[in-house]
Formats: sequence, structure tokens, C-alpha cells
Amino acid sequence: MKAHLYAFFALLIVSISSCGPAFEADVTLANAYIAQFDGDSLYYLHGHIAVQDGKILAILPIVEGKNTLPAAKDTVDLQGAYLYPGFIDAHAHFLGQGLAMNSVNLWGAKSWSECVDRVRAFIAEHPDASVIRGRGWDQNDWPGMEYPTLEALEGLTDKPIVLSRIDGHAVVANSVAMELSGITAESRIEGGEILHFPNGAPTGVLIDNAESLLKIAQPSETERIDALLTAQARCYSLGLTSVHDAGLPTEDIDLIHRLQDEGQLTIPLYVMVSESPEALKLWKSRGPLKSDRLDVHSFKFYSDGALGSRGALLRQPYNDRHDHFGLQIRSYDYKQEAAQEVAAMGWQMNTHAIGDSANHFMLELYQAFAPNNSRWRIEHAQIVSAMDRMRFGGSQALLPSVQPTHATSDMDWAVERLGAHRMPDAYAYLELRQAAGGILPLGTDFPVEEVNPLYTLYAATSRKALDGHPSEGFQIENALTRSQALKGMTHDAAYAAFQEEELGEVKSGLWANFTIFTEDLLTCPEDNLPLLNVLQTWVQGACVYTAKP
Ligand SMILES: [Zn+2]
Repeated sequence: MKAHLYAFFALLIVSISSCGPAFEADVTLANAYIAQFDGDSLYYLHGHIAVQDGKILAILPIVEGKNTLPAAKDTVDLQGAYLYPGFIDAHAHFLGQGLAMNSVNLWGAKSWSECVDRVRAFIAEHPDASVIRGRGWDQNDWPGMEYPTLEALEGLTDKPIVLSRIDGHAVVANSVAMELSGITAESRIEGGEILHFPNGAPTGVLIDNAESLLKIAQPSETERIDALLTAQARCYSLGLTSVHDAGLPTEDIDLIHRLQDEGQLTIPLYVMVSESPEALKLWKSRGPLKSDRLDVHSFKFYSDGALGSRGALLRQPYNDRHDHFGLQIRSYDYKQEAAQEVAAMGWQMNTHAIGDSANHFMLELYQAFAPNNSRWRIEHAQIVSAMDRMRFGGSQALLPSVQPTHATSDMDWAVERLGAHRMPDAYAYLELRQAAGGILPLGTDFPVEEVNPLYTLYAATSRKALDGHPSEGFQIENALTRSQALKGMTHDAAYAAFQEEELGEVKSGLWANFTIFTEDLLTCPEDNLPLLNVLQTWVQGACVYTAKP
């Protein structure tokens, strides 16, 4: 069937270029440099794209002296702009981004007292909020690098305050939230930490599983709808045409499904179900969910915490905390049983693994239980030994899913956690890509990092922070080429979702998802990459964003 289709399109192109347009498309995107992948390289085809029913009907090269412009109800002249397959973020928290944008923004705060000032201002501006939520603090950016404590939040409000660390793997809560949740000096939890003052009282900081002890009302449906639409607008404005949400509860997935059916939410999402024994049981009876804009047939697991909060599970102790190896989330036995269950369902298993120990155990488990071509993913794959890296790829097509801006956000302090001897195994993206057979889906983990996919392209290729440091690039031997990175943000991300026959390239028959720039992303000077603005974003044949002139 597929071969017939290709033959049909090939014929169509020939007939059009030889005797003029023989069909009428819904819309033609005219005069663009159209990015095409050829193995690991990228070249441009100067031509027009005819779109019908949301899909690419034909790509027509511009031929000197011939009118190859197809007839269409609508024609958009791109005036020689550069058109790429629609960008995909292969690991992000779409709803989380929207919620973060509608709460106290703690990103970039240079001290705990600056955070507290922002909380105070937010409370004054949002008198109706029943819970004060915030996100984005990072004690590694503060003098002394100490965790915050709840004392500074006292007296600001009689409502609960919950502020998430930048990576979402720790929160600081005020005493109202702690008391409402019944968290005391005696509280303990497996796979999590409750920090204490010397006198034994909790400091308000809850790490990893300890966050689940908080019994604070979740955002209302109205707040969540608002958040989803806020996140969508942000994604479109930055050229994202699809996002893999790395873990949502069923309730949120059902809300997304409803909003998409109603036409309110248009962005295509690949959503991983947050795992729990109940979720596995429920989706086993429901079966996978697949529509034009929603794809649900994967589970998100956690194997450990994050490096910043010393939750990443390491084989040797932390360099800056000698009695500590990190946190294991869920037992090996639990995950082994779950892996068998996921394999039997024919679903994809995607596991957060940061530390070398977490990666080792998960890859061993994947090798034992993943079916052929199951494309089970390790999310982050941050510190992976050379031996374990070789477990990627193979007949099971095991995939690392990485976020290049994590490397440049962590590079200044990761060595303190790991020690220099472990650094060669950290953020080794090019080596991971080679091990996985030349496939490396890229994402940002937003709102942990910024949404902008150009920051991913810049970080992956230059291995520098936005301020340009270090000038030689961080562990530059693991930089990707621009073509490799662009492929990771498009085709490889689609592959990681079993969608490479639907999107991720500009080819006949695929969804008309495009990210368009006036500049050439292959040749534009490195320093300019993060500064470029998207000209247009197209999703399923509709222009969803146009830059303001
Ligand atoms: Zn994540």
C-alpha cells in the first residue's frame, strides 16, 4: 500500500512539472528553502509545498523558466524563507509549563530572599489564589548554595505556599502547608527526604517522594485549562509543533483529550501516563489512545532523582557528600514486574534515569524485558558508563532521550557532585547517539529549562551557556552537528514516539507541520542562533503562529 502511495506522489510531481498544475491544494507554501535530511546531513530544496487535508500533498522544485506553482485555494509566499520539519520537544512537561507560567516565577532568582520578595509580590497581585504555588528556585545559584528554609515564608499569608525547585525534584513549603499535610519531625518516606533543622523540626524542604506527603489542593480544572492554553501559545510562538509530555495522570490526559475534541487545544501531544499500579491496570483495560492530535501508549517511570538535589542514584558516593549515593525511586522488583506488564501490553516504557547506577539498572532491566523494536526510552541518560551506553540501540532499539540545555545548565556545578573522574560519562550526547544507531531524540524538560527549541540547538552544538561560556564549549567532543541536532528535534523525536511515518520530516504524505525562519539555521553565526525569531509555525496544514511585523 505504502509503495503504491509513493508511486502515486512521484507520478503526481512528474505530471505537475511537465504539464502544469493538475490539482487544487488547500494551501501552497510557495518559494521556500525546504529542509531535507539525507542520512546525517541536511540540504535544502528550493520549491513549493502543496498541502491538502493537513498533510503534505506534494513538494514541487522551482525550475528555471517553468511555472511549477500548484493551484491552491490559498497561497502563502515565503519569499525564500527556510522551512524545517515542525520542531518537536521529546521531553517536556506541557501542563507543568502552563501551571508554572501562571504561578510565582522563581527562575533566575539570585538568593532565597529574592524568591521571598517575588512570593510576596505575587500574593499581593493574586488575592483570590487559594494556594500560592511557585517554581524555579535553584540554591546552586545563591550565595552559600544552601537549601531554603520555611522561616522566611512565615507571616506572608495564611494560605499554603508550595515552591518547587527548578527541576521539580524538591519543594519548600510553608508551615501552613506542612501542618495541613500533617508533616512533622517524625515523618519519614521511602525514596524521599524531609530536611530537618538541628532541633529535628522540618525545614519545609521535601525531596523526591517526600513531595507526595503534601496534601494541598491540586489546581482546579479552570486553572489547568488556562495552563494548557498558555503553554500552547508559548510553544507555537517558539516554533514547537508537537510535545512529548513526560508524565501526566489520567485525569489530565482526559482533560487534554476533551479540549482537543472541542477544538480549544490544537497542539499534537504524545503523552506518557504517570505510572502507578492503578494507572497500569486502568490503561490495560482502556487500551491505547490514538487520534490525530493525541497519542497515549507509553508510561513514565522514575528510577532516581536529580543531580542538583543529590537525588541521582550513583554507583560511588557523591563527591560533595561522602555518605550519600542518591535516591532510588521504586524498588527493582517493582520495576521488573512493571516492565513485564508494559511489554505484555505492547506499550512503551520511558524511565527517568540520571545517575550511573540508575541507568545501569534500568538498561539491564530493559535488555531483559523490552520486546524487539520497542524503543523503550531512558529519559535524561545523564551519567551513563561506557559499558552501559553500548546497551542502547540493538534489536530492541533502546533510546536515550536527552536535553542539551541540561548539560549547559549543570556544567558549572556537576563536577562538584560527581568529581572529575566521572565527568567523561556525563552528558555524553554524541556517544549516546552513536550507541543508539544515530538516533537521539532531543528535548528541554521545560519548565525545568526554557521552552525555546533554539536553545537546544545552540546548547547541543556549541555546548555553551547563553552567555557564551565556556568559550571552548563544555566537553566539546560530545557536541552534535547542527544537522544532527535538527534531526534530533524533528525526525528522531518522532521516531521515539513511533510517529516517523506521520511527522518529523518534510515529505509527501506526512503532516504539514513546519517551523519557518528567515535565516538558515545551518549557516547562521553560532552566537545568533539563540536570538533568532520564528517567522511562522504550521500545524497540520494551519498556520498557528506568525511573527508580528
Ligand atoms: Zn522531566
